[in-house]
Amino acid sequence: MENRPYNFSAGPGVLPLSVLETAKSEMTNWHGSGMSVMEMSHRGKEFLEIFNDAKSRLISLLNIPDTHEVLFMQGGATAQFASVPLNLLGDKKSADYAVTGNFSGLSAKEAKKYGEINIVADLKSENYNRIPRSDELNISENAAYFHYCANNTIYGTAWDYIPETKSVLVCDMSSEMLSKPIDVSKYGLIYAGAQKNMAPAGLTIVIIDKSLLGHEMPITPQVMSYKKMAEKDSMLNTPPCWCIYMLGLVLKWVEENGGVSAMEKLKRERSSIVYKALDESKIFTAPVEKSSRSDMNVRFYTGNDDLDKKFIDGAKMRGLLSVKGHRLTGGMRASLYNAMPIEGAIKLAEYIKEFEVEENA
Ligand code: PMP
Repeated sequence: MENRPYNFSAGPGVLPLSVLETAKSEMTNWHGSGMSVMEMSHRGKEFLEIFNDAKSRLISLLNIPDTHEVLFMQGGATAQFASVPLNLLGDKKSADYAVTGNFSGLSAKEAKKYGEINIVADLKSENYNRIPRSDELNISENAAYFHYCANNTIYGTAWDYIPETKSVLVCDMSSEMLSKPIDVSKYGLIYAGAQKNMAPAGLTIVIIDKSLLGHEMPITPQVMSYKKMAEKDSMLNTPPCWCIYMLGLVLKWVEENGGVSAMEKLKRERSSIVYKALDESKIFTAPVEKSSRSDMNVRFYTGNDDLDKKFIDGAKMRGLLSVKGHRLTGGMRASLYNAMPIEGAIKLAEYIKEFEVEENA
């Protein structure tokens, strides 16, 4: 499609156009089956092929070792905020949480229902404009696990290091999964809502060290039990079939485009184009400390609400969609997920410069 706007939405986010086109062409008749993926039995051979294809592509793209199990779950990352403590607290009484923004705060709040939660760092007083340094983390001796959020979608920060912990490492990777290689072996559990880099909303990927299965609290709902889900290969109940199909198409697209290392190179390229324009600007501020900057979600503002609104409205007129910041932060936020073409970042940077020239005229 010509003149397709550039969609900077934080999630659900932009998907590759070729993936949408394939989904469109297969919409009513998947591979000659006479059925849409939306109409198939999840236990039928057609869907099992789709399911196994998506799972094996994910394992190979992220180089997931045999020690870890991949689960396709539902309820978004928010359901994981409860599933994590329900499954991982085990005999231990407490868990460590780093609060680096909205979602990590919510995950800690949810976990408090099930155990004692130590907040190992909370930089609210600095408006979450940076990630804590390793020497600022107040890590406990006896925690069941350490939970952090790798990329903070709202505040536009990302951890540039993997925290060293004494306990199992648990990470919410919702807004950066598939954007770079991961050393999965370092993690006890990784989870990510799919609706940013991977698929439509409705699917959550969980990657769990198999040795952690089987310690859930008796009250754990069965759809939230990692062990039960693993035993049933994520088919304890009807899975989000359409999302899993779309995930498979996106994973194929990532493979065709060089895999997750190529995605990492591209994300750095995109974000540096936009940050450079912001750093050179006299009217825009990118408030996040440089070492904590997210490549996925770039946050900026002018400091004047009317001017911000003018920028956002003008962006829309130019086909640069959804650059409005989250209500918690105001200002602007440009999400640069895998499917954002480099040209989108270039067009946004050009607009940032032109807007400044016009305002100074
Ligand atoms: N964690 C992060 C980092 C997120 O960005 C989001 C959603 N934007 C969530 C958790 C919550 O995800 P969901 O809406 O899928 O429950």
